[in-house]
Amino acid sequence: MERQEALELLTGKVANFVGLVGKVLPGDVTAKLKELSENETVPMAKMIYEFMEKNQREAAELNRPSCQDTGLIQMFVRVGTKFPYIDDLKPVLKEAVFIATKEAPLRHNAVETFDEVNTGTNTGTDAPWLYWDIIPNSDKLELDVYMAGGGCSLPGQGKTLMPGEGYEGVVKFVLDVMTSYGLNACPPLLVGVGIGTSIDSAAFMAKKALMRPVGSHNANPKAAALEDEMTAAIDSIGLGPQGLKGSKSVMGVNIENSARHPSVISCAVNVGCWSHRRGTITFNSDLSYQSSTHEGVAL
Ligand code: SF4
Repeated sequence: MERQEALELLTGKVANFVGLVGKVLPGDVTAKLKELSENETVPMAKMIYEFMEKNQREAAELNRPSCQDTGLIQMFVRVGTKFPYIDDLKPVLKEAVFIATKEAPLRHNAVETFDEVNTGTNTGTDAPWLYWDIIPNSDKLELDVYMAGGGCSLPGQGKTLMPGEGYEGVVKFVLDVMTSYGLNACPPLLVGVGIGTSIDSAAFMAKKALMRPVGSHNANPKAAALEDEMTAAIDSIGLGPQGLKGSKSVMGVNIENSARHPSVISCAVNVGCWSHRRGTITFNSDLSYQSSTHEGVAL
């Protein structure tokens, strides 16, 4: 295949995947919503879960976005140093979002800061927003595509704590954010928490945590236990689906962490809503592909 032809093929497949992510939730989120619905005991909450399921089914059947806010597109890019199209990847991903916006379609959500002009394409200055990770000796490209809606982006906050505040301070910070703003983000939520050495790394990890499947746990047993404790604590608020009261508030809490300076604990919260549109796709060097979130997908 000629290089130009291959680049067009890759662009088209990524564009189709971005469109799909806007319409079909990943398997882990669908399964968790079903579990929450089946176990819900508050009648109004149970009815809302049933409408969420109907909404998802009809979005897929009618080929329409699962929520009107198709978000600002963010991608975590893990690209092998031997992936043959690494040099062209940034413009390929931008063009893919441009095409998906027209063809999916996606709501126009990219507004140039200061100019206050909607580009109408979901592309713009550093939009889509890309996080890069270079993988040595690999010829693959792995992409997490995420649609960050306005409502679920609103609770995002970070804080650097004095070391004496300890992990209790982290829990208090997360619960303060959840009790103040969790309601706005269309629960049940997936709560991403980042804990590290500075506010920027904590914020990054809080978003990265949202790319982990619902129900997964941090590899560190103490962090994993804290995930479960925070889940129980936020559930006890009883936000329920869409914040209209119910037995649960969250799909889960995912914590990501790094080593930190002994004088500080930086923590950050980032939130995914019930319509948590996350998709992971892996391209091989011949541009064959498979998705761990949308099994059997044909683009
Ligand atoms: S928070 Fe999520 S479900 Fe609610 S409007 Fe925003 S994108 Fe849609």
